[in-house]
Amino acid sequence: MCIRIAAVDDLPKIAIWDPDEVTILVSRGTHSHDLIRELHAILTIDFGAPDIPGAGLTCFCGEPVCLPPQAPVQDALEL
Ligand SMILES: [Zn+2]
Repeated sequence: MCIRIAAVDDLPKIAIWDPDEVTILVSRGTHSHDLIRELHAILTIDFGAPDIPGAGLTCFCGEPVCLPPQAPVQDALEL
C-alpha cells in the first residue's frame, strides 16, 4: 500500500506520519519548499524511499507520491 499525503488544518508540525491511515499529514498552507523538503526527508529517511534527483517525491516502492490538491506545492515538484 502506497503512502498517501493529506493536507489538514491546525497541525503542530509541517508533517506528521499517521500509521493508521498510511498517510503523511501535512499542514495546509505550508510554504511549498518547506513542505517538499520535510516530506522528502520523511520518505527517504524513515521509509527508505529511493532518493532520485529530479524525480520528486517517491514512495518506498518507487512510485511517485501524489500531493493533495489542497497543498500549494504544485510549483515545487521540480526538485
Ligand atoms: Zn508505494
